[in-house]
Amino acid sequence: MLINIGQLLTLCQANDHRGPRRGRDLKELGLIEDAAVLCQEGKVVFVGKSRDVLRDSRLKKRLRQAIEIDCKSQVVLPGFVDSHTHPAFIRPRLTDFERRISGASYEEIAQAGGGIRSSVEAVRKASRSELGEIILAAFKQMNEQGTTTLEAKSGYGLTVESELKSLRAIRDAAASWPGTVVSTLLGAHTVPREFQGHCSSYVDLVCHEMIPQAARRKLVQFVDVFTDRGAFSVRDTETIFQAAAASGLGVRAHVCQLSEIALEPLLRFDPASLDHLDHVRDHDIAKLARGNTVATLVPGANYFLGLDKFPPARKLIDAGVPVALATDYNPGSSPTPSMPFVLSLACTQMRMLPAEAIAAATINGAWALRLEKRKGSIAAGKDADLAVFEVEDYRELPYWFASSRCALTILKGLVMANAGSAEVE
Ligand SMILES: [Zn+2]
Repeated sequence: MLINIGQLLTLCQANDHRGPRRGRDLKELGLIEDAAVLCQEGKVVFVGKSRDVLRDSRLKKRLRQAIEIDCKSQVVLPGFVDSHTHPAFIRPRLTDFERRISGASYEEIAQAGGGIRSSVEAVRKASRSELGEIILAAFKQMNEQGTTTLEAKSGYGLTVESELKSLRAIRDAAASWPGTVVSTLLGAHTVPREFQGHCSSYVDLVCHEMIPQAARRKLVQFVDVFTDRGAFSVRDTETIFQAAAASGLGVRAHVCQLSEIALEPLLRFDPASLDHLDHVRDHDIAKLARGNTVATLVPGANYFLGLDKFPPARKLIDAGVPVALATDYNPGSSPTPSMPFVLSLACTQMRMLPAEAIAAATINGAWALRLEKRKGSIAAGKDADLAVFEVEDYRELPYWFASSRCALTILKGLVMANAGSAEVE
């Protein structure tokens, strides 16, 4: 049981079942002061004022069995749901980093042999266990920053064998970490060198081999496509989405990072989320506002690429589009495991309020992964996934940027303390 919570952000609201948070509802945190949360067998069983939990006679037996954690008037919120990460890579891309500092663009770096393709060779050569250990280390780093649920994509193998190996390595890492992992096949990340000039043959491979095999082996929940200039076209994406649907998988896509992409043909497939959206068109914003597809913004990429412009969060939120925030953890454009840093970027660079950023990183992240019934808010019956921050006011989370104040997380009832990451329970 967590007791003596200064500010408990439940992220609960009466009409939450209707869909992801949008517009004014995005800043409703469901804040309870001097609060307690009681968890049992991995689930939340009571949320309320500290004095009410102690008085409730029905909870007496459960209270006697519970381990008590004194939160010392600090802030407790649902663990972050990082709904967009690429952890299946071997090493950082330091040459690209220097090239970019010297003035090369994302596309120039790719043409010079850097970019996504430069991560491919190492992943193809790596063993499943080597990759799994690297992925597990990334999950632990994300967890230290308050993340308890994350999405993990393949996408640096780009052959049937190495994409399946990446997905198995993600599954291995997920089995060794008490948090929750949603896996996504991103075979359509870029066209690999050996298919240069034969994009449609590669799309065939993704549709006829990768997707059915990954689905049959139950390795993934979603299929993702990098739909942009220099990557895959809207037509390719529709073909891949059809194959995903035929295999019973959900879909999501990287869109409008580098150029304007028509979203209407993709929205027909009811994607769980469309991510990046730097160059989203006004009439597509209106369409997004009418549906439940989440617009996932990843300002860490804009920061790391040194871009002047960030995704138009204000415009999207004010138009009623449900917005989520994620790290986009990857070696080329966003090597950060830190959701609090992303929150800070959202506030300072995209003018989101701290409360909006927190809701976008929790309940709307859960919607973006179709886990809203289990994750993203603190309510009786939901998974006991919580994060305790050593601050007195939730606005301090994005305020103290690049400084982790996460003291401990609870993952399906299991307590992970951050000082040395000792397991308490
Ligand atoms: Zn990405």
